[in-house]
Amino acid sequence: MSERFNKNIEQMKASASMVIMAKAKRIKAQDPEIIDLAGGEPDFDTPARICEELFRQVKAGYTHYTVGPGLPELREKIAQKLNTENGCSYHPDGVIVTPGGKYSIYMAVRTLVNPGDEVMYLNPGWVSYPSIVEAAGAVPVDVNLRYEENYLIREELLEEKYSEKTKLLIINYPNNPTGRVLTPKEAEVIRRFLLRHKDVLLLSDEMYERILYDDNCNVSPASMPEIADRVITVNGFSKSVAMTGWRIGYMATTPEIGAMAGKLFQHTISCVSGFIQKSAIVALDCQQEIEEMRKIYEQRRNLFVNGLNQIPGVHCTMPEGAFYAWTDFDIPGMDSNQVCEFILEQAKVVGVPGISYGEQQGSRMRFSFATSTDQLAKAVENISAAMAKIKCEKKEG
Ligand code: GLU
Repeated sequence: MSERFNKNIEQMKASASMVIMAKAKRIKAQDPEIIDLAGGEPDFDTPARICEELFRQVKAGYTHYTVGPGLPELREKIAQKLNTENGCSYHPDGVIVTPGGKYSIYMAVRTLVNPGDEVMYLNPGWVSYPSIVEAAGAVPVDVNLRYEENYLIREELLEEKYSEKTKLLIINYPNNPTGRVLTPKEAEVIRRFLLRHKDVLLLSDEMYERILYDDNCNVSPASMPEIADRVITVNGFSKSVAMTGWRIGYMATTPEIGAMAGKLFQHTISCVSGFIQKSAIVALDCQQEIEEMRKIYEQRRNLFVNGLNQIPGVHCTMPEGAFYAWTDFDIPGMDSNQVCEFILEQAKVVGVPGISYGEQQGSRMRFSFATSTDQLAKAVENISAAMAKIKCEKKEG
């Protein structure tokens, strides 16, 4: 008798982001004092001119299929953006517009790997990489970066996990959850790794690339000529232009890989809604709006992270990009799931446990600071009170 379900899907874990985001909404509906710092979702409205373009297109009847992996003018503009802002030279034929960046990652992995191939990814890392790899029947191989080394990518760590079956390496900078950027030194480590292993491709998820703080820069690996044709860059509009619910992202690769992925796209997606694509063309011109949001994230980061660092037993390294505070709690005897429960119960703050991002060590949590300063200040106050209580209890005990 055949199996009831596809084995790869049956074994797959639920997405921790989706589960915790749903839980946060549910408990907040019952208790309005809950502070939801769980999901990575901008609280800003999508800039007005993007919405106006959508209304205009829908009113004009632009509501039919758009044939192909993206409107030619959008693909052209994305290739141009990657060229001028990120120093990459992709041809528009290698650009595919997908419903969210997540589908680009799925499509790239699905197009490139065969069952049994290995896909390396870095931990701490976004929750969906290993599951997407498993869905394709391939084997996810985690490269564990170290908290004590500020999650620096080192050659030895990559080499330890490389095998002849390695097909792809997935990286994500600015990083969700740590907020680290890809420095030139680390980009060089990646470049050398790819030059040593000629069959390995790189998937660079750059979803947060416009959200950078201080003088930090993030290297796009496709800007390095010797490896450029082996780098698939994934990006989108969700985070930088506050368009999470629109579901639009893209991948950029060689026309050859693009054509191959395009077949899967035809059979599964057909096209992203034309009116959404037209709006994305406008979004690519929203430099000013993007910068305004970035500045506000920076103020929030400063307030929140400095506040957390005032609390005894709490430490958070200043994020260089994205909008996550990767926070370490010094509470002996509690793992990250237990810390998460404790912070929810005692501080009414919802975050995501470090274990969801593959962080086995310590008691770390991810908080999103894409929310109002009032909520962030209150979260700091509550966490501080909860930590003080634990100290008192310890003394008494
Ligand atoms: N990327 C966001 C997060 O990490 C949204 C949820 C998801 O797609 O995982 O919270």
